Amino acid sequence: MSAGLTLSSRLKGVLESSTLKMNALARELAAKGKKVINLTAGEPDFPVLEPVKDEAIAAIRADFSKYTQVSGIPELRKGISAKFKRDNGLEYAQDAVLVSCGAKQSIFNFLLAAVSPGDEVIILAPYWVSYPEMVKLAGGVPVILDAPQSAGFKITPVQLQKALTRKTKVLVLNSPSNPTGAVYTREEQAALARVLEEAARSGGPGVWVVSDEIYEKLVYGVEFASFASLSEDAFRRTLTVNGFSKAYAMTGWRLGYAAGPRDLIAAMTLVQGQSTSGAASIVQKAAVKALEIPDNELAPMVEAFRRRRDRMSEIFSRCNKCSFVEPQGAFYLFLNVERFAGRTYNKDGKPEVLRGSEDLAFYLLDRSQVVTVAGAGFGADGYLRISFAMSDADVEEGANRIVKALDSLG
Ligand code: PMP
Ligand code: GLU
Repeated sequence: MSAGLTLSSRLKGVLESSTLKMNALARELAAKGKKVINLTAGEPDFPVLEPVKDEAIAAIRADFSKYTQVSGIPELRKGISAKFKRDNGLEYAQDAVLVSCGAKQSIFNFLLAAVSPGDEVIILAPYWVSYPEMVKLAGGVPVILDAPQSAGFKITPVQLQKALTRKTKVLVLNSPSNPTGAVYTREEQAALARVLEEAARSGGPGVWVVSDEIYEKLVYGVEFASFASLSEDAFRRTLTVNGFSKAYAMTGWRLGYAAGPRDLIAAMTLVQGQSTSGAASIVQKAAVKALEIPDNELAPMVEAFRRRRDRMSEIFSRCNKCSFVEPQGAFYLFLNVERFAGRTYNKDGKPEVLRGSEDLAFYLLDRSQVVTVAGAGFGADGYLRISFAMSDADVEEGANRIVKALDSLG
């Protein structure tokens, strides 16, 4: 950079999104004609449903093209409010809902609105790559709690209790989880909720909960429970986040939403009103339609993910030195590959040491043309995140190639 021109200290230590980076790399290689199998993507390979597309086209034709309310068009907030009641038994009035450009923006709005410099935000590792980085951008301090594979990638109430300090401001939850596929039961979540309620009652910190429920519809044989529905206390302290990217395969349309206490939503709306304003008018119209789609029309997509999850689990159970917990939700398998750390392989005639998950991801790309995401960015360097949100053929072929390449390391 030229002399005298500097960037903000706010960016110090903030990492690039490894999921977006690896997905971009896979696409770049494909565009160059390379036959890679892309198992990075955090997006369904399904098309947007026809009625949703039709509604967007109709909105364009009707010139529904002006700025909308910052918080979202009333009919969409009404639809979201109805969704919460129908699916989660939650009573959020329209003014307790904020529509944003993706759930990512919902979470970022929240952090800017709620976190002061030095506030601690508890994040459970393995975590979605963006949580700690967004906390840092907001001036907060990420406090990482380990949710080990041996515990099904979940934390215990005792762990949570021990992590609370006077500075704790927020707990971020994500069930079903990206990247592990872990789903907390209602009882497990209720036990965490009681820790927070008890802490506040006995003079401890008041802790907000962000419950990122974007994979709500993608569960396989287990029940999904919304954190805010657990108790009155949980309802008061929780921001419930959801969106259209996963359940409706609308990742590129950029639409998400959050609901919570009115004062909090008003503060988040202030942040959004001075940064990006309302989400795209046309997309909001289409989303009203998406929310009207009954769950049974989404069932074929969920069923396909379940089938691919089963197939991928079957293939990886044949991998000698790997292990994993079968995902109960979302569309990722988090593969334990720590036993390959320190191995060497032959790259262009020279020995190359595999130091960690990043090296291993590049080894798989080099050796078998399969792109995955290293666990390092998720706070778990002994792992690879392998998406099964792609065609059955890619899941089958990609997983087989990975097992073969790993086994060949001996
Ligand atoms: N939360 C989690 C756990 C995610 O995996 C993602 C990735 N899409 C998001 C939030 C953000 O979703 P979007 O911004 O596309 O709504
Ligand atoms: N959330 C998805 C993923 O984890 C999309 C990419 C991103 O926003 O990080 O792959």
